[in-house]
Amino acid sequence: MTFRSAIFRKLLSIATLLIVLTLLMLDFYLGPYTARQQVESVQHLLDGEAQILAGELETVAPGQLANWAREAGARARARVTVIDPRGVVLGDSEHDIESMENHANRPEIQDAHRTKKGSSIRHSKTLDRDLCYLAILVNYRGQSDYVLRLALPLEDLDAAIAAVRRRILEASLLVAVIALGVAYYFSFTFTRRVNRLQTFAERLVGANPPRPPLPAENDELGALGQSLNRMSVRIRELVDRLSQESAQRESILASMMEGVLAVDNEMRVTFCNVSFSRAVDCRFPVPEGLPLLELIREPDLFEMLKRVLKDGQSLKQRLQLSGPAYRSLEVQAAPLASPTRPGAIAILHDITDLERLERIRKDFVANVSHELRTPLTAIRGYAETLLDGALDDQDNNRRFLEIIKAHAIRLNNISADLLVLSELESGRPQAEPERISVRAAVESALRTVEAEARVRGVGLRGEQLIEAEVMGDRVRLEQVLVNLLDNAIKFNRPGGDVWVETTRASGGLVRIVIADTGIGIPSEDVPRIFERFYQVDKARSRAVGGTGLGLSIVKHVVERMNGTIHVESLLGKGSKFIVQLAAV
Ligand code: ADP
Repeated sequence: MTFRSAIFRKLLSIATLLIVLTLLMLDFYLGPYTARQQVESVQHLLDGEAQILAGELETVAPGQLANWAREAGARARARVTVIDPRGVVLGDSEHDIESMENHANRPEIQDAHRTKKGSSIRHSKTLDRDLCYLAILVNYRGQSDYVLRLALPLEDLDAAIAAVRRRILEASLLVAVIALGVAYYFSFTFTRRVNRLQTFAERLVGANPPRPPLPAENDELGALGQSLNRMSVRIRELVDRLSQESAQRESILASMMEGVLAVDNEMRVTFCNVSFSRAVDCRFPVPEGLPLLELIREPDLFEMLKRVLKDGQSLKQRLQLSGPAYRSLEVQAAPLASPTRPGAIAILHDITDLERLERIRKDFVANVSHELRTPLTAIRGYAETLLDGALDDQDNNRRFLEIIKAHAIRLNNISADLLVLSELESGRPQAEPERISVRAAVESALRTVEAEARVRGVGLRGEQLIEAEVMGDRVRLEQVLVNLLDNAIKFNRPGGDVWVETTRASGGLVRIVIADTGIGIPSEDVPRIFERFYQVDKARSRAVGGTGLGLSIVKHVVERMNGTIHVESLLGKGSKFIVQLAAV
């Protein structure tokens, strides 16, 4: 990983380049410098020797010059040449002077004549090799322009220079290897640290937060690492807070009864909760960014949101949904002023049930007035008739009074039932629930309606009355059973039958069935018979003293006991009311 990293390669290449350049420069400068140094020191040596030999030379006899040169050359370990002012070689340590040409034009000789000292490095024709020459003017035989020349072969010099260069090279290579090692180590650790910082930074916003934090190191990268550490803590806190807030918001929105819908300014859904999808009957969850038109077919809602987006003003409106089930909604829509994603939000209150309750309440008041008006009108009418003289009408006065009494009883029944209903609906705490024996309650109810059954010629019996207990209000449960039995007897025919069965049902339930072979209920009326004042046949019900409130009371009581009631009925054949309660 580190070796393939671009920064590692760059750092190492730059370091290598710098090292190579330094070495080249070193060689470039030091090479000629050492060569010069060497030449200078050789020349210095030759100069010293020359000065010594110059002193000796003055005492040498002309005939001895050649010998002296040979002997002096051996001593000085250099080539020694003596040249007269005209350039004729008088003695040479390494060559026979007879065969030597005139040396007047040699550069070092010419220089020596000009400046008393001359030097040159060149190829010696005489010896056929490169030599370093040094020539000085010397006094000989009263003349001051004899030349004493000393020379050393350049091979030695070259060898010396080469040795110096080799040593420089060796040292440089050693330094280069060390430098490369250091550069490699530095690049490696640097790259590794940069990589670690990068991985850390990338993980900051990832699902798995980086742990442990970056180690503290005393340089800029270390400082950057510490900044990232601090940032990571802040980001973690922020992410945690945001996810907590979003979780809270999600759960609030999900558990809200009201539907919530948010759209962006191009009418694409950005959010909606499950209540919304239920209210408008659309799928859930909704993919973010779905055009609203593809989700719902509610032009009114669509138009409303469009207006809010256009005007930037909140709106409140009642809408009727066009879906299969009739639903009435109160929609509150407001603009969403987000700088990044402006849009609109709508909150939908389902007021269908509220409207229905309101209607029921209105109907109820109307029904109560209507139900009361009939007996009151009758009582008033017959009382007036009696006062107007019918009191003396021996044939009718008693009948009229009985009619008045019957209506008074009906009024009494209605007010008694209404009282029970209002007490049940008031939500006032009832009597402390007690254990009730179902069998005892059924038997007590059977006894209550026994006389009525006999009068109407209806057979009444209890079948398989099991021993079971339920929790609740004994009086109310008996009332339920009496109401159901009373209906079964009332809406029956002479010779018909009414019976009660109690059985255990699955889920720890007790099932009480009140069945009759009576007139039955038309199937279209079945769903409505539990409504207040609902009577299938008003005339017949009234004739038997019904108020239309009995089954409402039954349903209320059963539901208060957390039970259920349902009806199975066949017109002309009979009905079955099935009550299920939890057994204890
Ligand atoms: P009511 O006081 O008229 O009996 P209920 O609320 O008890 O009022 O019953 C509502 C209506 O349901 C009755 O008027 C009757 O038409 C019908 N009903 C109730 N029980 C039976 C039954 N066992 N057989 C036939 N119809 C019944």
